[in-house]
Amino acid sequence: MGKVRDFSRLFLFGLPKNSIGSIDVTNRCNLRCEHCYFFAEDHDNERELSIEKWIEKLEAMKADGHPMMLCTWVGGEPMVRKQLIDVGRHYFRHNTIVTNGTMELPNWPNCTWVISIDGTEEAFSRMRAPGIYQKIKQNVLDHPELNIQISCVLTSITKDCVEDLVKEWGPIARGGIIFDFFTPVTGLDESLWLEWPTRDRLIDQILALKQTYPGVINMLDSTLELMRSRNAKQVTDNCEFRLKAFAFGPTGEPKGKCMMGDNADCDRCGCVVPFHMATLSNRRLMIKETVKRLTA
Ligand code: SF4
Ligand code: SF4
Repeated sequence: MGKVRDFSRLFLFGLPKNSIGSIDVTNRCNLRCEHCYFFAEDHDNERELSIEKWIEKLEAMKADGHPMMLCTWVGGEPMVRKQLIDVGRHYFRHNTIVTNGTMELPNWPNCTWVISIDGTEEAFSRMRAPGIYQKIKQNVLDHPELNIQISCVLTSITKDCVEDLVKEWGPIARGGIIFDFFTPVTGLDESLWLEWPTRDRLIDQILALKQTYPGVINMLDSTLELMRSRNAKQVTDNCEFRLKAFAFGPTGEPKGKCMMGDNADCDRCGCVVPFHMATLSNRRLMIKETVKRLTA
């Protein structure tokens, strides 16, 4: 019922300010991937906000009338500090936890798990860390009861993995697969960025794979269309995450413009979130998607 109510409100009034956002649970991670946007900034000497202070902050947000619709718990690796999520998740109707999938996943209700699988095994080992891919896969296989989505960032290293990833993870990820494109962030390796024609070609491929493997890729066609070179700037110039969402770092302070911090290049943003938000708040697109779903 909650989802239907949220959807109707969204359709009628658009996305209310501060209804969604992200919290960096921790500045620690059990992996240290070379290409991590989080550790492109120096968090090592920060003091994490205590759980008691986070509760005070969430209570204050609630008292201020924040809609408390969806929180994405990120980091660092959020599961190294799962006690905070276990308390904080009760403040939001929906919760998404973005994890590297190497640690135990608790069976919490009202949570969606997003596990980052950047490419199939060989590419993943180059993007993240060697020797952990099969362990993460086993973790997903061990939890068929959880709503787990697989998220893959497409880069110059992972760009050729799309179909293999869909074939390998589609049958085991209950929540399907989502694709982002690498967003250049100051300090990260620029060569991961995919030029626009490559991005457009990959969008064609993803749209075609949606037909071949129905129900596996959990992205609306309209969102993918907005990510194309000809549409992207219009979305990122008016990024709804920057304008409407909250994003707090591990100290509890607001982050820069979004969860990726101030050093992300908006003009080349490949994060699916602003494109998904732009789809949801566009009535014409939502009518189109609803009709498509009803007639499928
Ligand atoms: S697992 Fe995630 S948070 Fe940890 S270093 Fe890698 S990309 Fe960053
Ligand atoms: S980098 Fe992307 S998500 Fe972040 S503010 Fe810019 S457009 Fe929005």
